[in-house]
Amino acid sequence: MIVMKFGGSSVANAERIRHVGSIVKTQIQKKPVLVLSAMGDTTDHLLEAGNLALKEGKVETKLIEKLHNETIKDLKLPVQREVAEIFDELTRLLSGIALIRDLTPRTRDFLVSFGERLSVRITAAHLKSAGMNARAFDAWEMGFLSDSNHGQAELQKESWDLIPGKIIPQIKGNVLPVVTGFIAKDENGSITTLGRGGSDLSATMIAAACRAEEVQVWKDVDGILTADPRMVKNVHPVQYVTYDEAAELAYFGAQVLHPRAMRPCMKTGTPVLVKNSYNIEAPGTRIEQALTSAKKSPPVRAITSKKNVTLVDIVSTRMLGQYGFLAEVFSTFAKHSISIDMVATSEVSVSLTLETAYDLAEVKKSLSKIANVEVKTGRAIVSIIGNVKRSSEILARTFRICQLIGVPVQMISQGASKVNIGFIVADTETEEVVKALHLEFFEGAD
Ligand code: ASP
Ligand code: MG
Repeated sequence: MIVMKFGGSSVANAERIRHVGSIVKTQIQKKPVLVLSAMGDTTDHLLEAGNLALKEGKVETKLIEKLHNETIKDLKLPVQREVAEIFDELTRLLSGIALIRDLTPRTRDFLVSFGERLSVRITAAHLKSAGMNARAFDAWEMGFLSDSNHGQAELQKESWDLIPGKIIPQIKGNVLPVVTGFIAKDENGSITTLGRGGSDLSATMIAAACRAEEVQVWKDVDGILTADPRMVKNVHPVQYVTYDEAAELAYFGAQVLHPRAMRPCMKTGTPVLVKNSYNIEAPGTRIEQALTSAKKSPPVRAITSKKNVTLVDIVSTRMLGQYGFLAEVFSTFAKHSISIDMVATSEVSVSLTLETAYDLAEVKKSLSKIANVEVKTGRAIVSIIGNVKRSSEILARTFRICQLIGVPVQMISQGASKVNIGFIVADTETEEVVKALHLEFFEGAD
């Protein structure tokens, strides 16, 4: 058994759904379970419709109805009645919101659930008409039980048993289950959502809980890329990464799965394959536990960057060796609810980075009793994700390049996981640095 997840752009219209059908058909012997997102931008459109009802008392479903009805017509699917009933329910919900002018997180989850509920019914009907024994399921029929943290729900432990209990019998009965991503129900029976982009997690959860051979995540890019294609011309997809590397990449701005989505598969060692539904031939990126020696790993897997970072340099005015300095620095930031990203320290100073543009006046004031604080905006973090065992080589080559192009490195930190080396440069130098490093690590003879 395998799990195949198709995101919104892969099921955006009739043509894309036909294409999904052809991809699934070629792998039908592997016994796939499908997990789908809402069609195109439907989730956003539902949220907009909810806000319109809330703020202006208007009920507006035209855009959403048009997309789904045109798709059904184009694909000649016998689901008009079923879908019309769902739209009736949606209209009633929006009327309720418009009437009472209230939209709680719980109601908002109910509202956005319509997107996935529609997409699985339409896609399953198409697969059926294309000769496959497909059946649409809502996540809660397939054991997706979550807590009640609406908008960002976590799956309950029970789901690990509930999901295979529901999925495996379908597979054994030769059914091709088409399951809603993104949504679940809590123990009171209220619909919940797993956070934006949450259908990746739905797919990895099914794959891990059912001990599937692999989970394929079909997107609109060729997999994880060696760098941001807007910055570097000669990027190419990374063939293999470990879960840890993929998680670091996701944290540092690469277009990958959300780290949360990888968690279930990390537990069971289920491989995740990121594929491009617009370019089936491309091998994609395989994320798995440990790489076998046959897949000889290069020193660097990928380079990412994040702009608009603030660097804060804090130099202690206390005597050397005094304790409590770092504790005081960090608790001051915590008191002001400021989240710190990267940190580098020496005996008497600490440098740290902040991602968001915070107002630091208060922090500066509090810290001025113990330290001199300098705030430098307009910085960028460049992150190199690579092979732990070759970190000295990576550092040497990186700094040689920075020296060659005359870019001063302003701070450096190597994460505890050691797969990530991050350093700070000026915002304006980001492209130049990333391009030069890409050339060094990916475009020359290695
Ligand atoms: N449809 C949801 C969203 O757009 C979930 C997903 O696509 O993963 O966030
Ligand atoms: Mg989506």
